Amino acid sequence: MAHQVQLFINGEFVPSKSERFIPVTDPATQDVIAQVPCTTAEEMAFAIASAKEAFKSWKEVPVSERARLMMRFAHLLKEHQAEIADIICRELGKTVEDAKGDVWRGIEVVEQAANIPSLMMGETVENVARSIDTYSYIQPLGVCAGITPFNFPAMIPLWMFPMAIACGNTFILKPSEQDPMTVNKIAELFALAGAPAGVLQVVHGNKEQVDVLLRHPDIKAISFVGSVNVGQYIYKTGTDHLKRVQAFAGAKNHMVIMPDANKQQVINALVGASVGAAGQRCMAISVAVFVGDSQQWIPEVAAAIAKVRPGVYTDPEAAYGPQISPQAKARILSLIEQGKVEGATCLVDGSDVKVAGYPNGNWVGPTVFSDVTPDMTIYKEEIFGPVLATVNAASLDEAIELVNNSPYGNGTSIFTASGAAARKYQHEIEVGQVGINIPIPVPLPFFSFTGWKGSFYGDQHAYGKQAVRFYTETKTITARWFDDSIPVSGPNMSINL
Ligand code: NAD
Repeated sequence: MAHQVQLFINGEFVPSKSERFIPVTDPATQDVIAQVPCTTAEEMAFAIASAKEAFKSWKEVPVSERARLMMRFAHLLKEHQAEIADIICRELGKTVEDAKGDVWRGIEVVEQAANIPSLMMGETVENVARSIDTYSYIQPLGVCAGITPFNFPAMIPLWMFPMAIACGNTFILKPSEQDPMTVNKIAELFALAGAPAGVLQVVHGNKEQVDVLLRHPDIKAISFVGSVNVGQYIYKTGTDHLKRVQAFAGAKNHMVIMPDANKQQVINALVGASVGAAGQRCMAISVAVFVGDSQQWIPEVAAAIAKVRPGVYTDPEAAYGPQISPQAKARILSLIEQGKVEGATCLVDGSDVKVAGYPNGNWVGPTVFSDVTPDMTIYKEEIFGPVLATVNAASLDEAIELVNNSPYGNGTSIFTASGAAARKYQHEIEVGQVGINIPIPVPLPFFSFTGWKGSFYGDQHAYGKQAVRFYTETKTITARWFDDSIPVSGPNMSINL
């Protein structure tokens, strides 16, 4: 049997006793490179119990020591960035540079988690009444859990557990079964940095294991990133079991191109943002909205995208890698066919792309459609592949209306030379992350990742100050200390202090 991915429970890597395994395949060849276990019910129970036990002592560890753990962890992640990226390349097929970026964006969150002392500062007001002060502390919740998708196997787990653990919680992570080895390496480094046993646990599997986390009374909060249907299920089930839930879901991101924009900047931005990372990014630009005369640039955009070639990560010329699975590829190809049937013009068709030497890879070539309308399936569905739909709008108002009618609200961008147009767009658009002449506006970790509408269920978002609020409770204390200057009064029968 191929390498068996281990569980990380109570500070140790252990083989699962499960009899059920899911193959992890190299998406460029279909070779089985590992088997990931479906964690048994007993192992799940032990992981949760040891996280609960670890919480008792971890919450008492001084905040500055928790910060130092994050500093050491960030340092180790930097030292091992190339090694982690290599695991990502093997199990997900990303190009080396893209895989390194996946790790780097996670490291930045760990650096932010190292700032936890100032992020945990509460509020105080002196003399809320005579000789009475009110002040607040924030305290950790207990055991929190994270469920992560395949497309950023380093960054997204690192969005979650460093902030949760820095706040004083313990954490159970269930990474994607499609690329589970990256998280095991990250957990190994976290232990090496000095994390006490039980503070982070890694369990593997899919729906069955997630269902245990969603229902277990000792799990206080759930962070999820993944597809829309699963995100809705997680949010509904988790809150039904009275847990705090943040669920980041799918997207359909529009880039609006004004006629006064710089044409070459637009073309460069669209090439990278639409088909880069094989379109497997929740912030990928999947719809380009050409306003007025800018639609004359569509043939040049298509020509630039047509030049992009997928390939294996060992090929430095490869612009992006394969799709994660044959099922993902089949779904994308069927959506491309549907686009043609429903009347869109396929300017660049990547359905038949071949990569020399890798006949079994999940390759999809770059694909561009024009004449797309909002009623078409390729406009409505998140394709999660290297497919760009272009639509036309007569004015900025029409473009804004189109974007605001989308059920999603993860990211958007506008390319323009006009401050007035950009200001109007940022103000009126109903999307949580807006780029102005920036195609993929993912905020750095001192802000939060603030998707809206159907791209997010919950209220407090990932990383930044919002993550601290998500992973903590506020305790507000109102205090009076008697001394001889305060006269002893009788019982107070009113609600006054
Ligand atoms: P997915 O929803 O299939 O899986 C995500 C996680 O949920 C995995 O750990 C998986 O094991 C688990 N899961 C799958 N089915 C489940 C079920 N029925 N019940 C309980 N758990 C289940 O997502 P994916 O294909 O791995 O990732 C791609 C999706 O993630 C895309 O839709 C993308 O837009 C989205 N995504 C969103 C963001 C964001 O920040 N909004 C970021 C990255 C990815």
